[in-house]
Amino acid sequence: MLLLAIESSCDETAVAILSGSPGEPARILASEISSQIELHRVYGGVVPELASRNHSLHLRPLVEQALATAELTLKDIDCFAATSGPGLASSLLIGATAAKALAVAAGKPFIAVNHLEGHLLSPYVGQGTVPPHIALIVSGGHTLLLDVENPGSYRRLGSTRDDAAGEAFDKVGKMLGLPYPGGPEIEKTAKGGDPNAFRFPRSMLKDPGFDFSFSGLKTAVLYTLTDQNPGYGTPRTSDLPDLCASFQQAVIDVLVVKTLRAARHTGRSTIALSGGVSLNQALRDGFARACEKEGLSLLTADSGLCTDNAAMIAFAALLHHFEGRHSPLDADIDPNLALAP
Ligand code: ATP
Ligand code: FE
Ligand code: MG
Repeated sequence: MLLLAIESSCDETAVAILSGSPGEPARILASEISSQIELHRVYGGVVPELASRNHSLHLRPLVEQALATAELTLKDIDCFAATSGPGLASSLLIGATAAKALAVAAGKPFIAVNHLEGHLLSPYVGQGTVPPHIALIVSGGHTLLLDVENPGSYRRLGSTRDDAAGEAFDKVGKMLGLPYPGGPEIEKTAKGGDPNAFRFPRSMLKDPGFDFSFSGLKTAVLYTLTDQNPGYGTPRTSDLPDLCASFQQAVIDVLVVKTLRAARHTGRSTIALSGGVSLNQALRDGFARACEKEGLSLLTADSGLCTDNAAMIAFAALLHHFEGRHSPLDADIDPNLALAP
Protein backbone atom coordinates (compact mmCIF):
# COMPACT_ATOMS: atom_id res chain seq x y z
CA MET A 1 0.00 0.00 0.00
CA LEU A 2 1.58 3.29 -1.14
CA LEU A 3 0.21 6.59 0.08
CA LEU A 4 1.21 10.15 -0.88
CA ALA A 5 0.36 12.96 1.52
CA ILE A 6 0.61 16.73 1.32
CA GLU A 7 1.00 19.07 4.30
CA SER A 8 0.48 22.81 3.80
CA SER A 9 -1.30 24.03 6.92
CA CYS A 10 1.15 26.77 7.81
CA ASP A 11 4.56 27.78 6.52
CA GLU A 12 6.05 24.46 5.44
CA THR A 13 5.15 22.82 2.15
CA ALA A 14 5.70 19.10 2.55
CA VAL A 15 5.11 15.92 0.56
CA ALA A 16 5.71 12.37 1.77
CA ILE A 17 5.26 8.88 0.43
CA LEU A 18 4.79 5.99 2.88
CA SER A 19 4.41 2.30 2.32
CA GLY A 20 2.58 0.24 4.91
CA SER A 21 0.43 -2.73 5.77
CA PRO A 22 -1.81 -3.16 8.83
CA GLY A 23 0.09 -4.02 12.01
CA GLU A 24 3.53 -3.38 10.46
CA PRO A 25 5.77 -0.35 10.97
CA ALA A 26 5.24 2.12 8.11
CA ARG A 27 8.21 2.86 5.86
CA ILE A 28 8.93 6.45 4.86
CA LEU A 29 9.99 6.26 1.20
CA ALA A 30 10.22 10.04 0.82
CA SER A 31 9.63 13.04 3.08
CA GLU A 32 10.33 16.33 1.33
CA ILE A 33 9.95 19.69 3.04
CA SER A 34 10.29 23.18 1.67
CA SER A 35 10.57 25.43 4.69
CA GLN A 36 9.58 29.08 4.47
CA ILE A 37 11.19 30.03 7.77
CA GLU A 38 13.76 32.30 6.10
CA LEU A 39 11.06 34.02 4.06
CA HIS A 40 8.96 34.89 7.12
CA ARG A 41 11.87 35.60 9.47
CA VAL A 42 12.14 39.27 8.43
CA TYR A 43 8.51 39.75 9.55
CA GLY A 44 9.04 37.93 12.88
CA GLY A 45 6.16 35.53 12.13
CA VAL A 46 4.17 33.84 9.38
CA VAL A 47 2.52 36.11 6.75
CA PRO A 48 -0.47 34.11 5.40
CA GLU A 49 -0.46 35.67 1.89
CA LEU A 50 3.21 34.88 1.39
CA ALA A 51 2.75 31.38 2.77
CA SER A 52 -0.04 30.38 0.37
CA ARG A 53 1.73 31.86 -2.66
CA ASN A 54 4.81 29.85 -1.80
CA HIS A 55 2.83 26.66 -1.29
CA SER A 56 1.54 26.93 -4.86
CA LEU A 57 5.04 27.62 -6.16
CA HIS A 58 6.68 24.69 -4.37
CA LEU A 59 4.04 21.99 -4.34
CA ARG A 60 4.42 20.54 -7.82
CA PRO A 61 8.25 20.34 -7.73
CA LEU A 62 8.01 18.75 -4.26
CA VAL A 63 5.57 16.06 -5.47
CA GLU A 64 7.95 15.32 -8.34
CA GLN A 65 10.92 15.26 -5.97
CA ALA A 66 9.14 12.89 -3.56
CA LEU A 67 8.26 10.51 -6.40
CA ALA A 68 11.86 10.63 -7.66
CA THR A 69 13.23 9.95 -4.16
CA ALA A 70 10.88 6.99 -3.73
CA GLU A 71 11.61 5.82 -7.30
CA LEU A 72 7.90 5.75 -8.07
CA THR A 73 5.49 7.36 -10.50
CA LEU A 74 2.03 8.77 -9.77
CA LYS A 75 0.49 5.59 -11.19
CA ASP A 76 2.03 3.56 -8.34
CA ILE A 77 0.26 5.55 -5.60
CA ASP A 78 -2.81 3.83 -4.08
CA CYS A 79 -4.19 6.70 -2.05
CA PHE A 80 -3.77 10.50 -1.71
CA ALA A 81 -4.08 12.51 1.48
CA ALA A 82 -3.75 16.09 2.69
CA THR A 83 -4.10 18.14 5.84
CA SER A 84 -7.56 19.70 5.93
CA GLY A 85 -7.17 21.69 9.17
CA PRO A 86 -6.50 23.30 11.53
CA GLY A 87 -4.29 25.96 9.98
CA LEU A 88 -4.32 28.97 7.66
CA ALA A 89 -7.27 28.73 5.25
CA SER A 90 -5.37 29.97 2.20
CA SER A 91 -2.50 27.56 2.90
CA LEU A 92 -4.70 24.51 3.64
CA LEU A 93 -6.60 25.06 0.38
CA ILE A 94 -3.47 24.65 -1.76
CA GLY A 95 -2.48 21.23 -0.42
CA ALA A 96 -6.00 19.83 -0.03
CA THR A 97 -7.04 20.89 -3.54
CA ALA A 98 -3.87 19.44 -5.07
CA ALA A 99 -4.32 16.07 -3.28
CA LYS A 100 -7.96 15.85 -4.37
CA ALA A 101 -7.00 16.66 -7.96
CA LEU A 102 -4.34 13.93 -7.91
CA ALA A 103 -6.86 11.46 -6.47
CA VAL A 104 -9.49 12.30 -9.10
CA ALA A 105 -6.97 12.08 -11.94
CA ALA A 106 -5.71 8.72 -10.73
CA GLY A 107 -9.13 7.35 -9.75
CA LYS A 108 -7.82 6.63 -6.23
CA PRO A 109 -9.26 7.50 -2.80
CA PHE A 110 -8.63 10.78 -0.97
CA ILE A 111 -8.21 11.15 2.78
CA ALA A 112 -8.51 14.45 4.68
CA VAL A 113 -6.31 14.46 7.78
CA ASN A 114 -6.46 16.55 10.93
CA HIS A 115 -3.01 18.14 11.30
CA LEU A 116 -3.09 17.52 15.06
CA GLU A 117 -3.79 13.83 14.54
CA GLY A 118 -0.65 13.82 12.39
CA HIS A 119 1.39 15.32 15.24
CA LEU A 120 -0.25 13.02 17.80
CA LEU A 121 0.55 9.82 15.88
CA SER A 122 4.04 10.91 14.77
CA PRO A 123 5.87 9.04 17.60
CA TYR A 124 4.32 5.81 16.27
CA VAL A 125 5.40 6.02 12.62
CA GLY A 126 8.12 3.42 13.15
CA GLN A 127 5.97 1.17 15.36
CA GLY A 128 3.54 -1.49 14.22
CA THR A 129 0.70 -0.51 16.53
CA VAL A 130 -0.58 2.42 18.57
CA PRO A 131 -1.29 1.27 22.14
CA PRO A 132 -3.46 3.22 24.60
CA HIS A 133 -1.42 6.16 25.91
CA ILE A 134 -1.36 9.76 27.09
CA ALA A 135 -0.41 12.12 24.26
CA LEU A 136 1.06 15.57 24.76
CA ILE A 137 1.13 17.71 21.62
CA VAL A 138 3.35 20.77 22.09
CA SER A 139 3.53 22.75 18.87
CA GLY A 140 3.55 26.33 17.65
CA GLY A 141 -0.21 26.70 17.91
CA HIS A 142 -1.31 23.99 20.34
CA THR A 143 -0.69 22.51 23.77
CA LEU A 144 -2.98 19.56 24.00
CA LEU A 145 -3.14 16.69 26.48
CA LEU A 146 -5.17 13.71 25.28
CA ASP A 147 -6.13 10.27 26.44
CA VAL A 148 -5.71 7.96 23.44
CA GLU A 149 -7.66 4.70 23.52
CA ASN A 150 -6.68 3.76 19.97
CA PRO A 151 -6.12 5.64 16.69
CA GLY A 152 -9.26 7.66 16.05
CA SER A 153 -10.49 7.56 19.64
CA TYR A 154 -9.21 10.63 21.46
CA ARG A 155 -10.42 12.27 24.65
CA ARG A 156 -9.20 15.76 25.43
CA LEU A 157 -7.95 16.07 28.99
CA GLY A 158 -6.61 19.60 28.82
CA SER A 159 -5.28 22.35 26.59
CA THR A 160 -3.84 25.81 26.90
CA ARG A 161 -6.15 28.61 27.96
CA ASP A 162 -4.01 31.21 26.19
CA ASP A 163 -0.64 30.85 24.46
CA ALA A 164 0.59 27.50 23.16
CA ALA A 165 3.95 26.31 24.51
CA GLY A 166 5.69 26.95 21.16
CA GLU A 167 4.03 30.34 20.87
CA ALA A 168 5.38 31.25 24.32
CA PHE A 169 8.88 30.22 23.21
CA ASP A 170 8.50 32.31 20.05
CA LYS A 171 7.12 35.39 21.83
CA VAL A 172 9.71 35.27 24.61
CA GLY A 173 12.41 34.77 21.98
CA LYS A 174 11.20 37.94 20.25
CA MET A 175 11.23 39.85 23.57
CA LEU A 176 14.80 38.73 24.16
CA GLY A 177 15.83 39.92 20.71
CA LEU A 178 16.46 36.39 19.40
CA PRO A 179 15.69 35.44 15.77
CA TYR A 180 12.40 33.76 14.77
CA PRO A 181 11.44 31.06 15.59
CA GLY A 182 12.36 31.53 19.24
CA GLY A 183 12.10 27.88 20.37
CA PRO A 184 15.39 26.52 19.00
CA GLU A 185 17.18 29.83 19.76
CA ILE A 186 16.07 29.77 23.40
CA GLU A 187 17.21 26.17 23.74
CA LYS A 188 20.65 27.04 22.29
CA THR A 189 21.06 30.14 24.48
CA ALA A 190 19.80 28.31 27.60
CA LYS A 191 22.70 25.85 27.40
CA GLY A 192 25.05 28.21 29.23
CA GLY A 193 22.44 29.39 31.73
CA ASP A 194 21.18 28.58 35.22
CA PRO A 195 17.55 27.36 35.22
CA ASN A 196 17.16 28.59 38.80
CA ALA A 197 18.54 32.10 38.24
CA PHE A 198 15.07 33.62 37.82
CA ARG A 199 12.05 32.24 39.65
CA PHE A 200 9.34 32.37 36.98
CA PRO A 201 5.76 31.20 37.72
CA ARG A 202 4.55 27.65 37.11
CA SER A 203 0.97 28.54 36.22
CA MET A 204 -2.03 26.37 37.06
CA LEU A 205 -0.05 23.67 38.84
CA LYS A 206 -2.37 23.95 41.84
CA ASP A 207 -5.42 23.71 39.56
CA PRO A 208 -6.59 20.10 39.72
CA GLY A 209 -7.48 20.04 36.00
CA PHE A 210 -5.22 19.46 33.03
CA ASP A 211 -5.34 22.88 31.39
CA PHE A 212 -2.25 25.01 30.84
CA SER A 213 -1.55 28.74 30.76
CA PHE A 214 1.66 30.33 29.51
CA SER A 215 0.74 34.00 29.17
CA GLY A 216 1.55 34.76 32.84
CA LEU A 217 5.00 33.28 32.38
CA LYS A 218 5.51 35.38 29.26
CA THR A 219 4.48 38.52 31.17
CA ALA A 220 6.81 37.59 34.05
CA VAL A 221 9.73 37.47 31.61
CA LEU A 222 8.69 40.86 30.22
CA TYR A 223 8.51 42.41 33.74
CA THR A 224 11.95 41.02 34.54
CA LEU A 225 13.28 42.68 31.40
CA THR A 226 11.72 46.06 32.07
CA ASP A 227 12.84 45.92 35.74
CA GLN A 228 16.37 45.42 34.56
CA ASN A 229 16.19 48.08 31.90
CA PRO A 230 13.35 50.58 32.52
CA GLY A 231 11.85 51.82 29.26
CA TYR A 232 13.97 49.48 27.28
CA GLY A 233 13.17 45.82 26.84
CA THR A 234 16.45 44.40 25.63
CA PRO A 235 18.21 42.26 28.25
CA ARG A 236 21.88 42.54 29.15
CA THR A 237 23.56 39.90 27.03
CA SER A 238 25.17 38.43 30.14
CA ASP A 239 21.68 37.65 31.51
CA LEU A 240 20.38 36.03 28.34
CA PRO A 241 21.44 32.43 29.08
CA ASP A 242 19.96 32.60 32.61
CA LEU A 243 16.71 34.14 31.33
CA CYS A 244 16.38 31.50 28.62
CA ALA A 245 17.23 28.59 30.94
CA SER A 246 14.83 29.81 33.65
CA PHE A 247 11.98 30.39 31.19
CA GLN A 248 12.55 27.01 29.51
CA GLN A 249 12.60 25.23 32.89
CA ALA A 250 9.30 26.84 33.91
CA VAL A 251 7.63 25.55 30.71
CA ILE A 252 9.12 22.07 31.17
CA ASP A 253 8.10 21.79 34.83
CA VAL A 254 4.45 22.51 34.08
CA LEU A 255 4.31 20.18 31.07
CA VAL A 256 5.96 17.30 32.95
CA VAL A 257 3.87 17.61 36.11
CA LYS A 258 0.52 17.87 34.30
CA THR A 259 1.27 15.07 31.84
CA LEU A 260 2.37 12.65 34.54
CA ARG A 261 -0.65 13.61 36.58
CA ALA A 262 -2.81 12.71 33.55
CA ALA A 263 -1.11 9.30 33.29
CA ARG A 264 -1.77 8.63 36.96
CA HIS A 265 -5.36 9.82 36.65
CA THR A 266 -6.15 7.57 33.66
CA GLY A 267 -3.93 4.63 34.61
CA ARG A 268 -2.08 4.81 31.27
CA SER A 269 1.50 3.57 31.35
CA THR A 270 2.84 5.24 28.18
CA ILE A 271 3.40 8.91 27.38
CA ALA A 272 3.98 10.07 23.80
CA LEU A 273 5.36 13.53 23.02
CA SER A 274 4.90 15.28 19.69
CA GLY A 275 5.07 18.70 18.03
CA GLY A 276 7.93 21.12 17.45
CA VAL A 277 8.57 21.87 21.13
CA SER A 278 9.19 18.15 21.74
CA LEU A 279 12.47 18.64 19.86
CA ASN A 280 13.73 20.45 22.95
CA GLN A 281 16.36 18.21 24.57
CA ALA A 282 15.88 19.65 28.07
CA LEU A 283 12.17 18.84 27.77
CA ARG A 284 12.95 15.30 26.60
CA ASP A 285 15.39 14.85 29.48
CA GLY A 286 12.87 16.21 31.99
CA PHE A 287 10.22 13.77 30.77
CA ALA A 288 12.68 10.87 30.63
CA ARG A 289 13.71 11.42 34.28
CA ALA A 290 10.13 11.80 35.52
CA CYS A 291 8.85 8.78 33.54
CA GLU A 292 11.68 6.59 34.79
CA LYS A 293 10.88 7.54 38.35
CA GLU A 294 7.22 6.62 37.91
CA GLY A 295 7.82 3.49 35.83
CA LEU A 296 6.18 4.92 32.71
CA SER A 297 7.39 4.42 29.13
CA LEU A 298 8.14 7.49 27.08
CA LEU A 299 7.93 7.73 23.31
CA THR A 300 9.08 10.72 21.27
CA ALA A 301 8.89 11.27 17.53
CA ASP A 302 12.06 11.10 15.41
CA SER A 303 13.53 14.57 15.09
CA GLY A 304 12.43 14.93 11.44
CA LEU A 305 8.84 14.24 12.47
CA CYS A 306 8.45 16.81 15.28
CA THR A 307 7.95 20.06 13.38
CA ASP A 308 5.56 20.14 10.43
CA ASN A 309 6.12 17.38 7.89
CA ALA A 310 4.01 15.27 5.54
CA ALA A 311 5.20 11.85 6.77
CA MET A 312 3.09 12.23 9.93
CA ILE A 313 0.07 13.18 7.79
CA ALA A 314 0.69 10.18 5.54
CA PHE A 315 0.92 7.90 8.58
CA ALA A 316 -2.37 9.15 10.04
CA ALA A 317 -3.98 8.71 6.60
CA LEU A 318 -2.59 5.20 6.34
CA LEU A 319 -4.34 4.23 9.58
CA HIS A 320 -7.60 5.78 8.26
CA HIS A 321 -7.18 3.79 5.06
CA PHE A 322 -6.69 0.50 6.92
CA GLU A 323 -10.09 1.12 8.53
CA GLY A 324 -11.67 2.05 5.20
CA ARG A 325 -12.19 5.65 6.31
CA HIS A 326 -11.88 7.69 3.10
CA SER A 327 -13.09 11.27 2.62
CA PRO A 328 -15.56 12.59 0.05
CA LEU A 329 -14.06 14.79 -2.65
CA ASP A 330 -16.20 17.71 -1.53
CA ALA A 331 -14.74 17.52 2.00
CA ASP A 332 -13.88 21.12 2.83
CA ILE A 333 -10.88 22.47 4.67
CA ASP A 334 -11.55 23.80 8.19
CA PRO A 335 -9.10 26.31 9.69
CA ASN A 336 -10.51 25.56 13.18
CA LEU A 337 -10.85 21.80 12.85
CA ALA A 338 -10.90 20.23 16.34
CA LEU A 339 -9.31 16.90 17.21
CA ALA A 340 -11.38 15.87 20.21
CA PRO A 341 -14.36 17.37 22.01
P1 ATP B 1 0.49 23.72 14.99
O1 ATP B 1 0.83 22.32 14.65
O2 ATP B 1 -0.04 23.87 16.38
O3 ATP B 1 -0.37 24.37 13.98
P2 ATP B 1 3.16 24.38 14.11
O4 ATP B 1 2.90 23.31 13.15
O5 ATP B 1 3.61 25.69 13.61
O6 ATP B 1 1.86 24.58 15.02
P3 ATP B 1 5.36 22.85 14.86
O7 ATP B 1 5.88 22.94 13.47
O8 ATP B 1 5.00 21.51 15.39
O9 ATP B 1 4.17 23.86 15.14
O10 ATP B 1 6.43 23.45 15.85
C1 ATP B 1 6.90 24.74 15.72
C2 ATP B 1 7.13 25.27 17.12
O11 ATP B 1 8.10 24.47 17.78
C3 ATP B 1 7.64 26.69 17.14
O12 ATP B 1 6.89 27.42 18.09
C4 ATP B 1 9.09 26.54 17.56
O13 ATP B 1 9.60 27.64 18.26
C5 ATP B 1 9.01 25.32 18.44
N1 ATP B 1 10.31 24.65 18.57
C6 ATP B 1 11.05 24.10 17.59
N2 ATP B 1 12.21 23.62 18.09
C7 ATP B 1 12.20 23.88 19.42
C8 ATP B 1 13.10 23.65 20.50
N3 ATP B 1 14.26 23.05 20.29
N4 ATP B 1 12.75 24.05 21.74
C9 ATP B 1 11.54 24.65 21.95
N5 ATP B 1 10.66 24.91 20.98
C10 ATP B 1 10.96 24.53 19.74
FE1 FE C 1 2.09 21.59 13.25
MG1 MG D 1 5.77 25.45 11.45
